[in-house]
Amino acid sequence: DQSVCTLLPVLGRDVTVPLVTGGEVTYAALDYAASAPALQRVWDDVAAYAPYYGSVHRGAGYLSQLSTDLFENARRTVAEFLDCREDDQVVFTRSTTDSLNLLAAALPADCQVFVFETEHHASLLPWRDARVTYLDAPRTPAEAVATLERALVDRDPHGPALVCVTGASNVTGEIWPVRELAAAAHVHGARIVLDAAQLAPHHPVSVRELAVDWVAFSGHKLYAPFGSGVLAGRADWLSEAEPYLAGGGASRKVARRADGGVDVEWHVTAARHEAGSPNVIGAYSIASACKALTEAGFDTLVAREQYLIDTVRAGLAEVPEVRVLSLFGDDAPRVGVISFVVDGWNSSHFAAALSAEYGIGVRDGLFCAHPLVRTLLGSAPEAQGECGAPEAAPGEKSLNAIRVSFGAGTPDEHVERFVGAVK
Ligand code: PMP
Repeated sequence: DQSVCTLLPVLGRDVTVPLVTGGEVTYAALDYAASAPALQRVWDDVAAYAPYYGSVHRGAGYLSQLSTDLFENARRTVAEFLDCREDDQVVFTRSTTDSLNLLAAALPADCQVFVFETEHHASLLPWRDARVTYLDAPRTPAEAVATLERALVDRDPHGPALVCVTGASNVTGEIWPVRELAAAAHVHGARIVLDAAQLAPHHPVSVRELAVDWVAFSGHKLYAPFGSGVLAGRADWLSEAEPYLAGGGASRKVARRADGGVDVEWHVTAARHEAGSPNVIGAYSIASACKALTEAGFDTLVAREQYLIDTVRAGLAEVPEVRVLSLFGDDAPRVGVISFVVDGWNSSHFAAALSAEYGIGVRDGLFCAHPLVRTLLGSAPEAQGECGAPEAAPGEKSLNAIRVSFGAGTPDEHVERFVGAVK
């Protein structure tokens, strides 16, 4: 039902771009997994607020009070959007990467971390100062749960442990069995953080129902492109950890000591990790997007997106040279993120041709998930596929892939143009 496009219109639908063949065409933004276009609603809300913008938390003026209210209300809106538990904290960050690095910096001493090799680098790499166990790529959701359970059974049962898992892959779009992984983690005394960067824009995420301890996502993938992200979840580890950034706003009381040093009492609320002047517009725009998605209704959005997914997959299936990348197979539930290679084509050249000849914006490369893409392509760990990959001759393996991704506001014409261009 294309009416969802008008229900949740996005910016940039009328932007035209030049074609190498002459003339111009409206831009087909099919790289939502990298950054989604902003919802018109988010843009309008931000524009309406902009004249009233003021400093938060510290100003006595009317506009400062208003901005502080909007900022704190944004926190509540996000908590509702994620169906957080009563005691959960919502910390505003710069992005998912920032959120996961914050949590990594807040791990208790001697924490073990378990992470699948299939993760985006943002969820694969921040834990490197902890004791990390990297888990092999599973080939079914059930294997993912079994692999995690095996690893947790073998762990030192006394120390703290954290599992980090993505909700939906930024490469295959496949949805991971988060609830089951969370249950497995908890049975073995571990906690779990959900990287919802790709899941939250496309599916409802309930912290309570999934029983995850933390969730992280980015505003710019959730149709709110103002450099803001979220880490939401249990307060204890966050309140006990050193502040992520030291500075004003995070500190409740600072005083010189008799010996000349400085004593600091830090906040135990989300402010502890939000030192400095916060990105109010970023937080406000995330809240605006959360409201817009909730009002449109995820049932409607998911059904519409499934139609787009089916259209693209059916179109790609008609091209014998195309191989769609998948861990869990055709029947896995997925979001609108599809990666593929085309036999005989260098993926970078293919993506460049989609842009130059058809005005279609996709992404090529290894999508900041190098181990996963190499596993899916069957290429050697040292293979360089990100930039400057050599031309793959017919029958040769590609070293990188092409990714098409879409969501709210994507019209039929964009995916139809894409499928026609690939054909
Ligand atoms: N996790 C996943 C699954 C992602 O797709 C991305 C972005 N591609 C990130 C984390 C990182 O998000 P950001 O760049 O906004 O920090």
